[in-house]
Amino acid sequence: MGTEDLTNFLIASSELPKTFSEDEIAAFAAQLHVEEHPAGELLMKESTPACSLMLLLSGEVRRMLADVELDLLRAGEFFGESMFTDEGSHFANVVTTQPVTIARLSVDHYGSLVETAPITARKFKQYFSAIHMQEVYEKQGLSFVDQRSYLGLVAHNEMKESLMGFAGIHADKLKRFHLVATGTTGIKLYQEVGLMISKKLASGPLGGDQAIGKMISENNIKGLIFFRDPLSAHPHHADIEALGRLCDVYQVPMATNPGGAAALLNYLLIDHPEEPAIPNRVLEKYKNAQKKVVAQPA
Ligand code: PGA
Repeated sequence: MGTEDLTNFLIASSELPKTFSEDEIAAFAAQLHVEEHPAGELLMKESTPACSLMLLLSGEVRRMLADVELDLLRAGEFFGESMFTDEGSHFANVVTTQPVTIARLSVDHYGSLVETAPITARKFKQYFSAIHMQEVYEKQGLSFVDQRSYLGLVAHNEMKESLMGFAGIHADKLKRFHLVATGTTGIKLYQEVGLMISKKLASGPLGGDQAIGKMISENNIKGLIFFRDPLSAHPHHADIEALGRLCDVYQVPMATNPGGAAALLNYLLIDHPEEPAIPNRVLEKYKNAQKKVVAQPA
């Protein structure tokens, strides 16, 4: 594949034409060197010196951080942009998932571009380092673990007035928690009571209840105030049941009416060092059983 073919490929299949002229792309393409690699090869290793930018001409590669997949790259996409940053090392592993053809721009080839077309070379450097920064932010987002412990607030439509009244009376206490609420409940708590909701979720019937369940399973819920309407049928009955069940699985205190909620709030606001924690026997038993399932040979 010669420079002309590479230029045509870059114009047809990459994002470069959005930023670069044909001449600039051709100058860049003139420095690329084509290579073939088999499936399963580690093309880039995390933390090793970043001395090459690679363009995928055919096939597919997987970008990984430890055992987490960051993305799957296809023909026309670049990797190894960290070559253009001060970091100087790759931030992820790149493995071929099938036989691939790549075009490599090494540091030396880039040096030639700097000599032959310095302005174009600087423009490419800025372009790829901006992409790299974007990827780093995305990576940080992926590895972000929310350590906060929230108080969950949910009210069915017929119970919203009741929750707003409760929240108005107990606003000062509620403000001492990170609050998480299902969609409509959260909007009303903000508009009618002035409570800031730290994390807003979808409306309950649209997945909000399940989202709180997920937070419970990740240890992010310290208590749940869920004013359930006991006199109406709900389309998301299964989700409501599941949320209550997860509170039991993880021993998360849950209150379903104003009386229980007042008690819960007061309880959560003070430490109870004199009270030994009740061990969660069912959870321990279940986890131990699952370890045995994992250990069993296939
Ligand atoms: P909502 O959801 O806060 O969006 O009304 C509550 C629910 O019905 O579970």
